[in-house]
Amino acid sequence: MDEYIQVLEHLKAGRPWPPLAPKTVCHCLWAWKRHPKNPQELLDLDSIVSLTSQVVCSNRSDAWRSRLAVDDIFHLTVSVNNPTVWFHLVPIKCISFVWRTCMGRIPTAMTLSKRGIKISSISCQICSNGVDIADHILLECPDAVDSLVWIFIWCGIPFQRFRLISDFVNFAVIWGKCSKNRKIFIAIRYGFLWCM
Ligand SMILES: [Zn+2]
Repeated sequence: MDEYIQVLEHLKAGRPWPPLAPKTVCHCLWAWKRHPKNPQELLDLDSIVSLTSQVVCSNRSDAWRSRLAVDDIFHLTVSVNNPTVWFHLVPIKCISFVWRTCMGRIPTAMTLSKRGIKISSISCQICSNGVDIADHILLECPDAVDSLVWIFIWCGIPFQRFRLISDFVNFAVIWGKCSKNRKIFIAIRYGFLWCM
């Protein structure tokens, strides 16, 4: 309580609290929004000040550190080629699936094999004429192509083939001049990929 009175007297005199202690290692400037109102807040304040007084500021720029990284710095890898769009017309499960597909995160035979899992064959289990990768299963397999042909007919658009999921999705993103029709077209494509 003595400390509380001491602080109140300090504030009454118009001096900022807490004052910078001469022995403080961290030369930070406090900018409080208001003064402490009760003994509990004063205790909290005291805890913060004593804790931060031991902090040694570094001249290095802020960064996430990771011992697994080669340069000891955690990096967030962003795919600039990921055409995934996000809007409410497309169910989140479909968006998530397409996003994972574009990022190569679908557990196809090829993907599992690359992760060291023993796979008897990386050939497509449906047609045996291609490699079991997402681009083939969803765009090149005969069943997928048949479905795509019908979707293009249904939408009144000349059919064309795509080799990559990203190209397939990008086509819808830049297709047409009407934004409303484009969104419907994108939703159909996302739905198709998820259903396949
Ligand atoms: Zn196939």
